[in-house]
Amino acid sequence: RAKDGGRDAFQLYAPAMNARSMELLSLESELRRAVDRSEFRLVYQGKVDMESGQLTGVEALIRWQHPTLGAIAPNDFIPMAESLGLISTIGTWVLREACRQAMEWRGKGLPPLCVSVNVSPRQFRDCDVAEIVAETLATSGLEPHNLELEITESLLMQRVDEVASVLRDLRAIGVKVSVDDFGTGYSSLSYLSRMPLDALKIDRTFVTDIPDAEDAAEIVGTIINLAHSLKLKAVAEGVETVAQAMFLHQKGCDQVQGFLVARPMAPAELISLMDRRLLSII
Ligand code: C2E
Ligand code: MG
Ligand code: MG
Ligand code: MG
Repeated sequence: RAKDGGRDAFQLYAPAMNARSMELLSLESELRRAVDRSEFRLVYQGKVDMESGQLTGVEALIRWQHPTLGAIAPNDFIPMAESLGLISTIGTWVLREACRQAMEWRGKGLPPLCVSVNVSPRQFRDCDVAEIVAETLATSGLEPHNLELEITESLLMQRVDEVASVLRDLRAIGVKVSVDDFGTGYSSLSYLSRMPLDALKIDRTFVTDIPDAEDAAEIVGTIINLAHSLKLKAVAEGVETVAQAMFLHQKGCDQVQGFLVARPMAPAELISLMDRRLLSII
């Protein structure tokens, strides 16, 4: 089975089977069953507009509640789901569930929020993301401008023509697209300017070090300016302190996300944030 395609990270060789690979092997079969067993759920983290201080949208983040192992973080199973070819099944579930939830909030008379969904590069390779998005919008009844996909910077550098064409399809449908963890990849500025995008999300590693570390401060300022010169919004992720928020505001960052304004939370809990001012920068 070591020869199976797409399993590079988890190849198993019987003679070398150790505790760790046994663990991965069982996790692998558990992961295959997790969708059917409804072990996934979504939590939502608010995105806040820096001017109004109000919630403009929420990002859906997956959680895996394993019956015996407990909560497993996405960083511990998303890479496995990708290499096992399970990410499209999971990703489609995430998309449907996030759109369903957005409509459920609306049904309760809450103001419309844009819901963002993370999409792995492998999903673009394995399925027609634009078609699935169109289907999901039709089924759920969510308006396209209330859905955003978060893609990775590396995707923009892979199979550029194909990706550009999917992004154009998504633009035609009317959904938004943002580039997640921006600044950690190696996107070319010429590609970036040609892709139909809506926002750059500044990676948390830079945000963590502002305002004191000069290099991080410089990079964050540069990304915000780059976003604006490309007519995109700048969003900062992982904002934990008032000093970080003040720096971002001063540099003209449009939106922030982070423990300072809202932690990822269950749908019912999020309702309490909806008409509150979550941030006020003086
Ligand atoms: P991401 O999309 O960049 O999401 C941000 C991560 O940072 C989330 O971790 C969030 O809980 C965390 N975070 C938010 N604010 C703060 C903060 O102020 N401080 C700190 N220290 N952390 C903060 P999470 O939920 O563990 O997700 C990790 C990554 O897993 C995500 O990074 C995303 O790449 C991936 N992921 C999560 N859900 C999905 C999904 O449904 N599909 C796919 N393909 N990937 C997902
Ligand atoms: Mg994200
Ligand atoms: Mg991110
Ligand atoms: Mg991140």
